[in-house]
Amino acid sequence: MTAQIINGKELVRSIREEIKQEVQEMAHEGTQPGLAVVLVGEDPASSVYVRNKAKACEEVGIYSEVHKLPAETTELELLTLIGQLNKDEKIHGILVQLPLPKHIDEDIVIDSISVHKDVDCFHPVNVGNLVIGKPGMLPCTPSGVIEILHRMEVPLAGKHAVVIGRSNIVGKPMALLLLQEHATVTICHSRTKDLAEITKQADVLVAAVGRAKMIKREHVKEGAVVIDVGMNRDEHGKLCGDVDLDDVLETAGMITPVPGCVGPMTITMLLKNTVAAAKQAGAYGSHS
Ligand code: NDP
Repeated sequence: MTAQIINGKELVRSIREEIKQEVQEMAHEGTQPGLAVVLVGEDPASSVYVRNKAKACEEVGIYSEVHKLPAETTELELLTLIGQLNKDEKIHGILVQLPLPKHIDEDIVIDSISVHKDVDCFHPVNVGNLVIGKPGMLPCTPSGVIEILHRMEVPLAGKHAVVIGRSNIVGKPMALLLLQEHATVTICHSRTKDLAEITKQADVLVAAVGRAKMIKREHVKEGAVVIDVGMNRDEHGKLCGDVDLDDVLETAGMITPVPGCVGPMTITMLLKNTVAAAKQAGAYGSHS
């Protein structure tokens, strides 16, 4: 049996259409959600991500502004800008594109973003809320993966989900969200022994490693749902995932392609978080 390749573009299109309608309804009540994206330095990949985020905002009617700062920007200058954005009533979400130049402390910068405007869900308060299962902002990549699984009607309760990767932005929150869906969750990382032995038990396998095509047929259980978060370059410089799609195609039941699924879904969740933050601000008055 050949795996179903999940049509990420179609999923993303329909969710963005829903968001657009929500934004239009908010416009009737006089609110427009607003996102500020801050980019420090000239990292080419970061510049592309920022452009894509601004474009996606425009597509659904979210106001966006991009603050491009030179690489020599001091930490204080960046904190001052964030302080202003925290108070700006037309801005409901603030995203500081990572990585930041080495002379700026990322933790201090993330901590300075208002908890209510932290649409990336990197602030320790939002991370804490996620751990204890309190409703609030959810991190974009892992919540995008859950959205894909829901829309594809993949059952999660009681299933064995294996996450490869334990980073703060993908692996750990991914495992927590799968746990909230009542899956039995195993987390693997670079010190895991016999990786294939564990991943082969997964009904749902999420790869968030950052190593081109490292997940092969021997890592995948027959019929498993495979979600590929990885964004890497192969030996020809072509964008590819952590999973060797051609190799697992006859083994997996369903698989996400790279590019075209988890990446655009991540941006879609950013839009969703911005709309949710704007609704919260409307409900409780503006936050700082
Ligand atoms: P990190 O480098 O922060 O984390 C990678 C994780 O993989 C670590 O936990 C590491 O283990 C683990 N790992 C490394 N090598 C192995 C191995 N041989 N076997 C098992 N585990 C291993 O990466 P991120 O979590 O930030 O990103 C992961 C991938 O997802 C990247 O390709 C990134 O580009 C992509 N990404 C895609 C996004 C999207 O929107 N599609 C968003 C964010 C990331 P250890 O902790 O022991 O070092």
